[in-house]
Amino acid sequence: MNYQRFFEEAVDQVHAERRYRVFADLERVVGAFPKAIWRGNGEAKEITVWCSNDYLGMGQHPDVIAAMQEAAARMGSGAGGTRNISGTSHPLVELEDELADLHGKEAALVFTSGFVSNEAAISTIARLLPNCLILSDELNHASMIEGVRRSGAEKKIFRHNDVAHLESLLQAAGRERAKLIVFESVYSMDGDIAPIAEIADLAEKYNAMTYIDEVHAVGMYGGRGGGITEREGLAHRIDVIEGTLAKAFGTLGGYITGTRTLIDAVRSYAPGFIFTTALPPAITAAATASIRHLKRSQAERDAQQAQAKRAKEVLAAAGLPVMPSETHIVPVLVGDPELCKMACDRLLGKHGIYIQPINYPTVPRGTERLRITPTPFHTDALVDTLRDALVETWDALGIPYAAAGQPAVAKTDRIIPLLVPKSGG
Ligand SMILES: *Cc1c(COP(=O)(O)O)cnc(C)c1O
Repeated sequence: MNYQRFFEEAVDQVHAERRYRVFADLERVVGAFPKAIWRGNGEAKEITVWCSNDYLGMGQHPDVIAAMQEAAARMGSGAGGTRNISGTSHPLVELEDELADLHGKEAALVFTSGFVSNEAAISTIARLLPNCLILSDELNHASMIEGVRRSGAEKKIFRHNDVAHLESLLQAAGRERAKLIVFESVYSMDGDIAPIAEIADLAEKYNAMTYIDEVHAVGMYGGRGGGITEREGLAHRIDVIEGTLAKAFGTLGGYITGTRTLIDAVRSYAPGFIFTTALPPAITAAATASIRHLKRSQAERDAQQAQAKRAKEVLAAAGLPVMPSETHIVPVLVGDPELCKMACDRLLGKHGIYIQPINYPTVPRGTERLRITPTPFHTDALVDTLRDALVETWDALGIPYAAAGQPAVAKTDRIIPLLVPKSGG
């Protein structure tokens, strides 16, 4: 038995499907974000990152770094155990209080990542409800799909953001059956937003529970960074709000917030919470500092929105096919996996601009794209440089521009997700 052969064949398969991924070896530079050192082809060079999920640059914020250093100096590097066995540090308790307050909920529970929080919480909630039916948006993130699968509960997938389809599924299940609706607020590949109020109305009408992933919204939307549910005054109408500490908050970890009873149940039953070491004090203290800063400061949110808007305008004015997006996410259509990869290689190699290609299965075939995430630190000059680099690349590779006078290309048919997880996240 040649074991290695199976791994080789598996990787060959990924190559054949044109979705083999290559990591960029980066060193982020505090004070110079979004600049980073890239190492490749035996050289090290300075590049500009245009695809970071450190959406507000909080990963280099002085208060956040200071909190991390101070906690590490005082309490050491690790947590020392699981939450049950000596791992519940005081900074972690403070962080959970901060998160419950952020979303106006009774309680919060922190996990080692956003992925784990979705996987553990969705599966546990659905398992604790008798004969639960899960209603899941077709574009939900891989971590939610894992949670749904692991719950063992029956699931129905509703068409993306399609409340009529959701209602027909709820109606068929009836008011009496336990039902959990799982969806996201901001969908990170298209940058569109769920009809949260309508989903909450349906949940009320059919007596269903609601679980929202606000990973791409926390820190960035709402007066205190509580996400789209805060911005729209809907947090109290959603049962469970989930988020990450690793994107706009610039650190690491994930969480859920909800009623004290629900949080206590997940805390008591979820293996992905119970049987793993807690996040270390330095990380949790840094996350708390970041959340506290963004509760008070609107400047980062305003600057991010301004630069995202400017990037969309500047790229569209150059005829680049900017896809419609209601948020800070700026997708630019390439429409072919090979070209998408070549464009990214050229941007990095020739222009020192790093954007990861987004190909199938993360997005439907034919909608391969560059996913650009402007931050407050992407200056007007950087946006102009990006435009010039994209135009050079579009010309050199013969990638189609947007049709004159039309907005960029519409989304094509949806695929039903996804046995293969999204990676981009
Ligand atoms: C990134 C992502 C997650 C996972 O969060 P991590 O903290 O990175 O594990 C969950 N949901 C969505 C929609 C994401 O994009």
